[in-house]
Amino acid sequence: MTEQLHDNTFVTGEALSPQASRGITAIALLSGGLDSQVAVKMILEQGIAVTAIKFTSPFCTCDSGGVCHSAVAAKAFNIPLVTIPKGLEYLDVVRSPEHGYGRAMNPCIDCRIFILKKAAAYAASVGAAFLFTGEVLDQRPMSQHRRALDVIEEESGLRGKLLRPLSARLLPPTEAELSGMVDRNRLGAIHGRSRGEQMALAKSFSIADYPCSAGGCLLTEKAFALRLKDLFEHNNSLEMRDVTMLKVGRHFRYQGAKVIVGKNKLQNEHLLTARRTGEVYLETLGIPGPSALLSGDVNDTTILFAAEAAASYADAGNEAVEVLIDDGIAKNTLYVIVDEHICAMVKRLKL
Ligand code: SF4
Repeated sequence: MTEQLHDNTFVTGEALSPQASRGITAIALLSGGLDSQVAVKMILEQGIAVTAIKFTSPFCTCDSGGVCHSAVAAKAFNIPLVTIPKGLEYLDVVRSPEHGYGRAMNPCIDCRIFILKKAAAYAASVGAAFLFTGEVLDQRPMSQHRRALDVIEEESGLRGKLLRPLSARLLPPTEAELSGMVDRNRLGAIHGRSRGEQMALAKSFSIADYPCSAGGCLLTEKAFALRLKDLFEHNNSLEMRDVTMLKVGRHFRYQGAKVIVGKNKLQNEHLLTARRTGEVYLETLGIPGPSALLSGDVNDTTILFAAEAAASYADAGNEAVEVLIDDGIAKNTLYVIVDEHICAMVKRLKL
């Protein structure tokens, strides 16, 4: 059963009411990875009902391959899963994070604060007793060292209220532990990057299905960060579609214009359907080649560059390539011969 609650927030599962013996419900951040699954199981084992939350954004790649690991895990645990989009406001966090970036454009500390505030609001709205995560002390260099955990807790308004079951015995007791709601002695004292203890716990809990820890967030990838930085530099106000398009094709910036050249048939078709008013669609004609989409400063010079960029990826050798230019009002064609100079320029302007 999937039910829409409000504002694009969906819940999957039978009910939000407590489904465990003690009448206590807690809210978990569940990515579906090893740590968050073990954390959920630790709390379920204490007779506490759990409702899981998963956050989505165009930067998340954890569903690529068509499998939502949060949904798989929630189903295996038989707990409800609430899906909350991070929304447009998250782009402001990524654009100007107060606590800076990690290795690329990943604002991990600000990101955690952002989602925990949303999770806390949801927890309050359903009367949940406490909130917990699968964070492990000192596992990630930016957001999981002790000072970062404290900052995240403090700035999300969750001081003393955020339980990290895997590392709980290495951290100050939370209100849920102090009140006796959660037995601290049955929580973990795990720290560091090794996943050995979590894997042993997973085995004891019969958790067999969890994705590898690598990946999951495009903001950690330097190539993607380059495109995103360029987008921020050239656009003061963004729509989610602008970010989503960063994942499609090859990108070029030329004189204030943006050119996207498709890499395959699916992407070429997407460029045509995604075209907005004022954008120019280009397509190589008569030979196998890509489509392209031109946006930003559209003029004769940038149209010519877009045509050259598209033609440089066609199988034309030294032949002239006919390129369709469709600005949404009229369709024209122009011929491009791709020489070494054009190839070098296209390569240099690639983001
Ligand atoms: S890796 Fe990405 S999703 Fe995870 S905390 Fe960092 S910015 Fe947020």
